[in-house]
Amino acid sequence: MEFGSRRVRKNRRIEIETSYPNALQLYTTPPSGNISLQEFDEMAIERLKVLRTVERLNLSGQIKNSEDWMNKLYEDFSKHKYFIHSAEKISDNKRDEVEAARRRDHVSHFVLRLAYCRSEELRRWFIVQETDLFRARFLHCSTNGSDIKNFLVSNNLHFTPISKEEVHNQRDNLIAGTYKINSGDMMEGRTFFKVPFTEALELVRQRKVYLSGGYAYVPDTDLVTLVTASFRSNLSRALAITNKALPQLEDDERLTRLLHDFDKRYTGNSYSQKKSGDGLHITPDMIDELSTKSFPLCMRQLNDTLRTAHHLRYGGRLTYGLFLKAAGLSLEDALYFWRSHFLKNMDVDKFEKQYAYNIRYNYGKEGKRVDFTPYSCLKIIMTSIGPGDAHGCPFKHNDQTMLRQRLVSFKVPQQAVNEIIELVSMSHYQVACQRYWEATHNACLDAGINHPNQFFEESQKILNGQTQPSQGKRTMHVKTNRSVMYSSQSSTQSTQETTQSTQETTQSTQESTQSTQDSTQPTQASTQDCGNTSDYDSMIFDDDLDSVMIGQSMESEDA
Ligand code: SF4
Repeated sequence: MEFGSRRVRKNRRIEIETSYPNALQLYTTPPSGNISLQEFDEMAIERLKVLRTVERLNLSGQIKNSEDWMNKLYEDFSKHKYFIHSAEKISDNKRDEVEAARRRDHVSHFVLRLAYCRSEELRRWFIVQETDLFRARFLHCSTNGSDIKNFLVSNNLHFTPISKEEVHNQRDNLIAGTYKINSGDMMEGRTFFKVPFTEALELVRQRKVYLSGGYAYVPDTDLVTLVTASFRSNLSRALAITNKALPQLEDDERLTRLLHDFDKRYTGNSYSQKKSGDGLHITPDMIDELSTKSFPLCMRQLNDTLRTAHHLRYGGRLTYGLFLKAAGLSLEDALYFWRSHFLKNMDVDKFEKQYAYNIRYNYGKEGKRVDFTPYSCLKIIMTSIGPGDAHGCPFKHNDQTMLRQRLVSFKVPQQAVNEIIELVSMSHYQVACQRYWEATHNACLDAGINHPNQFFEESQKILNGQTQPSQGKRTMHVKTNRSVMYSSQSSTQSTQETTQSTQETTQSTQESTQSTQDSTQPTQASTQDCGNTSDYDSMIFDDDLDSVMIGQSMESEDA
């Protein structure tokens, strides 16, 4: 792949010299041709959104590849015009559109390989999401009339069916050992593939296939498992190779800048003042009530601290100030709001000199006059918190006992509290926040939580009757393995958001230490069954398998 220079970057279209006969790809050959850096970045972001959608669905606890899971995934693809939706169309109609979408699929996968080959945690995350995406797409294409046979042949995936004679000889064993085959009638018209059991580990673990002499007898209905296993091992090996080749790319500053911290990119909506001006408008007298009804825990904590201590340290003022701005608080109202609290601790002169400037600065009225955007969950979660700071994500930064006490004092139902704490202990902070939203709004939130202002807006929509609560019917308990999403990330800032933090002015070191005070105002919580069941064992197993495969791939590349 070659990258266009800055001079020709604009309006350069992708010129990839490959044709795409199949809706699905195994991504065995890298794309060739020219691509502008802008498109390179756009496509990577687009795929990152797709993979995060897959992850969100998995963390929502629905059973992977169930009808509901698949419907939600494809609904999301069509809603956001993700390339996958177009890539899977039968290519005779709208051939150009389909080819272009398939190119995006191809190129974006390889761009993300560059971004996600850097550490084991990142590789593992990428393999899990890509494999789940591939499996879902394979199933979708199989039921959609796509030419799966052609895909298998063109990718050299030859699974040889066993002969009729062998089927006859093994008939009783196959009936006894194959999942969902209980009688001779169910054998009619069925093809079995005989593969080394290592190629069907998932089916072996679930005891779904007959095993003999080190071979697994896999029915055609489980072909997807074989193909997915092949996809997974190819990808694992490819990431190891990419990792080894990475130093050659490091010389290109343009690429390193784009790929650096890519996994921390925020991919949700932008919450700028302009957008909030078009929608919600709030005033200082509304804030206390809104904080108990509609604010996420991080912002409620800041408001509670402000109410009791009449002061917030710099990080808190910045986080909360930008949140309120995007929630619809005008500059005049913001000055009034902060002044009304701070004047309980200081005189007007001090407030004007030390604090009013920063408030105007946040609104783009001072200094560089940039309209700063509020912080996303990822940024808040990755922030370093010092003693006396009230900002940060309570699900990540608060002690679990204290968090539990707060949730109980907010009248969150006990069952939801237990689930939230369990999610927190597995480092699924945003899913815990989603569960908190659901428990306090008696509704399901399929979109997940990725921004405090999104939490607020979704809440307002429900409370103002603009949307009907989603009554998702799922079973309780999210059970999943520990998140790798945050463990590989340091507390460095997101690349999109560093500009703002570097412009921060030095603050007084005499700021008083504040303790976070829990508000005792109850939240009208009631139980809505939005909980979850997931194939826990399968996820743990996949995780272990990925570690082994990644380890093996890295070792073989070292040798
Ligand atoms: Fe705030 Fe996001 Fe943490 Fe929720 S997950 S408390 S919205 S930072």
